Amino acid sequence: MDTMILEIMKEISVKTESRIVLIVLDGIGDLPNEGGKTPLEAATTPNLDRLAMNSALGLLDPIYPGITPGSGPGHLGLFGYNPLRYWIGRGVLSALGIGLEMGPNDVAARGNFCTIDESGKVVDRRAGRIPTELNAKLCEKISSAVKEIDGVKVVVRPEEEHRFVLLLSGQDLGPHVSDTDPQKTGLEPLAPQALDKDSEKTAKVVAKFVDIVKEVLKDEHPANMVLLRGFDKLPHIPSLQELYKLTPCAIASYPMYKGISRVVGMEVLKLEGHGELLEEKMTLFEENYDKYDYIFFHIKKTDSYGEDGNFDSKVHQIEAFDAVLPRILAKKPDVLVITGDHSTPCVLKSHSWHPVPVLLSAKYLRYDPCERFTEREALKGSLGRMYSMQLMPLMMAHAGKLKKYGA
Ligand code: ZN
Repeated sequence: MDTMILEIMKEISVKTESRIVLIVLDGIGDLPNEGGKTPLEAATTPNLDRLAMNSALGLLDPIYPGITPGSGPGHLGLFGYNPLRYWIGRGVLSALGIGLEMGPNDVAARGNFCTIDESGKVVDRRAGRIPTELNAKLCEKISSAVKEIDGVKVVVRPEEEHRFVLLLSGQDLGPHVSDTDPQKTGLEPLAPQALDKDSEKTAKVVAKFVDIVKEVLKDEHPANMVLLRGFDKLPHIPSLQELYKLTPCAIASYPMYKGISRVVGMEVLKLEGHGELLEEKMTLFEENYDKYDYIFFHIKKTDSYGEDGNFDSKVHQIEAFDAVLPRILAKKPDVLVITGDHSTPCVLKSHSWHPVPVLLSAKYLRYDPCERFTEREALKGSLGRMYSMQLMPLMMAHAGKLKKYGA
């Protein structure tokens, strides 16, 4: 069904002047605290409340009821793709996220600097979260020691803190190589294994790479070794331009979200700072609003605070968003959606399977009794409960960008 829908979208979508804005408060869905309130319920949100009274609300299942999504699949759903069909490897997301160009023959992996003891066992999988500046220096040191292995070009680039990207370019590189990250301390890094015949050369190159790096880093502390995971190639995903004739852009600061945006064809607008800079993102939104007809606006902190179990800070982040909401409304987007890619309940300190509240503001809506943008209010909303991937056709329709299907 879902591939059929994409084919139909390609046929009935039209280019218009109307504009769609999708705001993703990462991990916004939550559970009640001891006081019986979720962060959305506890937050003081006059602007969101007013908007909710004039919008349609409902609940989204990011992937399938009961399935806890990662942020990657969670976003793919929001962008209209079936996350069970389309998969983007972690390495690819990281590589694209830091702006590395990937060709169809390239294989990327996500790396961690880690600490090993004299016996070679991992004692800290994140090397004490070394600062990004040290990470950059170590990446340079590795880069000057190894540029090519068996005719395969090797590129090593820093992400933030202890994370980096390994990009391999060459012929006959299959992407199916096992992680070297043992996921636990007290164990040695695992040897990279080819998971199919086509990936044997890749595994061999990776093994040689790891040996070289171990030697290069042996006198460093705490980052004296690396762990690799999420080997993958660029997937074949039809772009938003191709499917919906959109000119889409993304305002996101974390590498993974920038990566996934690029994979589906969005232009990622350049932020100067790192981390969560709501003010800078808002300025970028205002400056670029007229140039795009689909704007994806990502806020990460709601998820980070959920992961930390920090209820109060999640509430404050929601209130900070509420404070800038009038600036988004001032642009009068034809369709405005506010939702999340999954729930991250503070009591669980992790992502969860609970459905996520969604708010859709547009011109032609039916009666909807919701008075606030909360999990509880969304239960009685006119959108009911649907899959995240069903949101995209709905936004397109409300933006007047879909022709009638059939005569
Ligand atoms: Zn997320």
